[in-house]
Amino acid sequence: MFESLSSRFSSAMSSLRSRGKLSASDIDATCLEIRAALLDGDVALSVVDSFIEVTREKSLEALSTAQAGSNQAQAIFDVVNEQLTEILGGGARRVRFAKNPPTVIMLAGLQGAGKTTLAGKLAKFYADQGNTPLLVASDLQRPNAVGQLQVLGESLGIPVFAPEPGNGVGNAVKVAQAGIEHAKSKFYNMVIVDTAGRLGVDEELMKEAIAIRDAVKPDEILFVVDAMIGQDAVRTAQAFQDGVGFDGVVLTKLDGDARGGAALSIVKMTGKPILFASTGEKLSDFDIFYPDRMASRILGMGDVATLAEQAKKAFDGDAAQKLEEKFASGEDFTLEDFLSQLEAMSKMGSMSKLLGMLPGAGSMKKQIENFDESEIIRTKSIVQSMTPAERRDPKLLNGGRRARIALGSGRKVSDVNSLVEKFSGAQKMMKQMRKGAAIPAMGIPAMSSPKGQSAPQKKKSKSGNPAKRALEES
Ligand code: GDP
Repeated sequence: MFESLSSRFSSAMSSLRSRGKLSASDIDATCLEIRAALLDGDVALSVVDSFIEVTREKSLEALSTAQAGSNQAQAIFDVVNEQLTEILGGGARRVRFAKNPPTVIMLAGLQGAGKTTLAGKLAKFYADQGNTPLLVASDLQRPNAVGQLQVLGESLGIPVFAPEPGNGVGNAVKVAQAGIEHAKSKFYNMVIVDTAGRLGVDEELMKEAIAIRDAVKPDEILFVVDAMIGQDAVRTAQAFQDGVGFDGVVLTKLDGDARGGAALSIVKMTGKPILFASTGEKLSDFDIFYPDRMASRILGMGDVATLAEQAKKAFDGDAAQKLEEKFASGEDFTLEDFLSQLEAMSKMGSMSKLLGMLPGAGSMKKQIENFDESEIIRTKSIVQSMTPAERRDPKLLNGGRRARIALGSGRKVSDVNSLVEKFSGAQKMMKQMRKGAAIPAMGIPAMSSPKGQSAPQKKKSKSGNPAKRALEES
C-alpha cells in the first residue's frame, strides 16, 4: 500500500534525522522532497501546495522551540505526521445510525469500483457487531450483479432482497423502495442498497442514483471509488458530489499499486471523510479507515494498531491464555501448539499484508512481495500428517515415521526434517525465554523462508539422524 510514497517519505525523514542542528534551509529541502513525492503519488496540486505551506510554517515554528539534535527532527516528523493525518480526514468518522431503524446505506460509484463486493463486506462487518442487515439488489444493469450479491449473501447467511433478475431487466428505484418496506416489515435494523454504476459518469446513471436516493432517503450515501485510478477518483467524486451528493467515501483496491493520490486528495477536494478501506477481494479484506494509521504507514512506521487488532480477533482468547499458562508452568511448546498458531495466523489473512503493517516494511518490500504464502499451508499439512503423539513429542519421529508423514502431506522427507529441525530450534528458544534470556524472534519455520531464499543453515550436529540427535541432546 503506497509503497513508493512511503519509501520517499521515510527517506526524507531519515535524511533529516541524519543532520545535526537543523536550519530553515533543511526544512525547505525536506518540503521540496515531500512535494515531489506527493506529486509523483498523483495527489492533487492544490492539496499538495496547501500541505507544503502548512507543513513548512509549522515545522519552522517547531524548529524554533525544539532543541538541537534529534529532538528537532522528531518535532518536524510530528508536524508531518499531524498534517498527513489531517489531509486524510483527521479523526475517523463512523456511520450514523438512524434514530428509527432501519439505517439505510446507499452505495454509489462507477461500475467496477467494488460496490457489490463492498455491500457484502459492510453486511458482514455490521452483522458481526450484532446488527441485522438486509442487502438490496438495485444494480439491475451490470451483468450478474444480482447473482453476485445473492451468492455473497448466501455465503454470509445474510438475506438479500432481489425481486428482479437484473441484467438490464427491472426497475431499480422500485426494488430499492420495496427493499426498505421489506426490511421494516421483517424488523431488519439496517439496509444496504447496491446500485448500478456505469463505465463513466453519465446522465442516465446520475438520474437513477438520484431517484433511488429520493425514494429510500438514505442515512448515509457512500461513494465507492477504486483507489488505483489516482486523481481520476477525485474527478469522479466531484461529479457524484454535484449530481447525487454523498456523505462519505469508501476507498477500494488499496491492496493494488495505488500511489496514494486518491486517498490524499479526496477528503480535501470533496470535504467528505473516508469511512472505510477495502484491501482485497475477500470479505475479510476490509476495515474502518483510520487517518492516523494511514499516515503512520506512509511515514514508514507501519500499522501496528491494526496488526494487533487482527491478531486479537484471530487468536481466540482462551487458547492464547492456555498457551501462556502452559508456557509459564514450564511445559514444552509442542507441534500441536505450533499448529494452532499457524491456524490462527491463516485466519489473520495474507502474510504479505501482515508483514506490510510492520514498521520499516517499506525497506523489506522485495522480501514481502516474494513471500511464499503457500509455505504456511505446506507447513500445516506436514504437522497435520503427524499423529497427536508425534506432535506432542517430535523425538518419536524416526526415519519410518518421517517417510510416512512426507507421503501423507505430499512433501519430501527433507521438508519434514527441515520443519522438525527448525521447530526444535524454536522450542529451545522458548526454553531460553523462560529462563529470562532476551526474547528471540518467533522461530516459525514457514516464516523464515521467503520464496527463493533459503533459511540459514544450522551447524552440523553430532548425529546424522535427527531423532537420534534429539535423544542425545535430551
Ligand atoms: P461493482 O461494479 O462496483 O459492483 O464492482 P464489484 O464489486 O463487482 O468489483 C469489481 C471487481 O473488483 C471484482 O472483481 C472484485 O472482486 C474486485 N474488488 C473489489 N474490491 C476490491 C479490493 O479492495 N481489492 C481488489 N484487489 N479487488 C477488489
